[in-house]
Amino acid sequence: MSDNQALFIHGAGDVRVGAHRPAAPQSDEIVVQVAAVGVCGSDLHYYKDGGIGGAVIKEPFVPGHEFSARVTADIPAAGISAGELVAIDPATPCLRCEWCERGYHNLCPKVKFLGAPPYHGAMTASLAVPVSSVIKLPASITPEQGAMLEPLGVCIHAIDLAKPRLMEAIAVLGCGGIGLGIIQLLQRTGCHQIMAVDPQPHRARKALDMGAHIAGASLAEVQEASGNRGCDLVIEATNSPDGLRDAILAAAIGGRVILVGIPDGDTYSAVSAAEARRRGLDLRFSRRMGNVYTRAISLVEQSQVDVDGLITHRFSLADSPDSFALQAEEAADLIKSMILP
Ligand SMILES: [Zn+2]
Ligand SMILES: [Zn+2]
Repeated sequence: MSDNQALFIHGAGDVRVGAHRPAAPQSDEIVVQVAAVGVCGSDLHYYKDGGIGGAVIKEPFVPGHEFSARVTADIPAAGISAGELVAIDPATPCLRCEWCERGYHNLCPKVKFLGAPPYHGAMTASLAVPVSSVIKLPASITPEQGAMLEPLGVCIHAIDLAKPRLMEAIAVLGCGGIGLGIIQLLQRTGCHQIMAVDPQPHRARKALDMGAHIAGASLAEVQEASGNRGCDLVIEATNSPDGLRDAILAAAIGGRVILVGIPDGDTYSAVSAAEARRRGLDLRFSRRMGNVYTRAISLVEQSQVDVDGLITHRFSLADSPDSFALQAEEAADLIKSMILP
């Protein structure tokens, strides 16, 4: 494989485009040409914090796990021809550990995840991926929609954990791409009272467009709208250390809290134990996704969700460092950036 360009994160606040020679494909891999790759909130943590928890950047690293691509050879077993647009599941779980055997592939501690150190990701022109992670797409799916299947899968997994019930009061904290995807899915399930919170006004407005019934800049605003009863279900999709605290305070007695967001600095701010205990809350952490691609594809193909409406910015690979800077400074109107190599 000849040299191609890639976006590298060198450390906190240091992102540059440079030459990248991807590893040669193994016997179970295929080379793909990236068609579109989304900038995820998790990519931003590598940029802002230099890592996420124990996943620390030790050498220049290519992020990017939300992507569609064109295969450079036929995959007869999957009915895929050279040149065809496909989605790539960035996660390759080991399938042998105790947790994989129990079906928790998203929790496999030995997972190889493209775009999480030490595995380079898709913010580049081409890379080798496992043949088993290539997903055939219907002809109607566009490159950008193909790249949105992974974050949509994160939303589907959160809904699977949340098990929303008809007519219950629901709060969604954080209206970035994930929060807005979750709001759309909640609406598909027939939920009646969806309250959205985001301090950025354009995101709160977008939440109303995408199915929220009430939207506000702060928890207090939305709590007031619920008559201070709290919500039966709270789904947290912020990047804020206050996400856990706010989710607990937004919940009604006997409520359920699902945490999807990754807090800046990998730390939650202090929360009153009594506030959580007195509510008897059911608290769950959502990690990536289960087997969701088939459903994600159907939702997009049948126009049940609007993933295109989440994409607000587009960048070439050469300009891609700007996408990180813009997102870090919470630029007005930005929801989701796509890089088109
Ligand atoms: Zn992501
Ligand atoms: Zn495993």
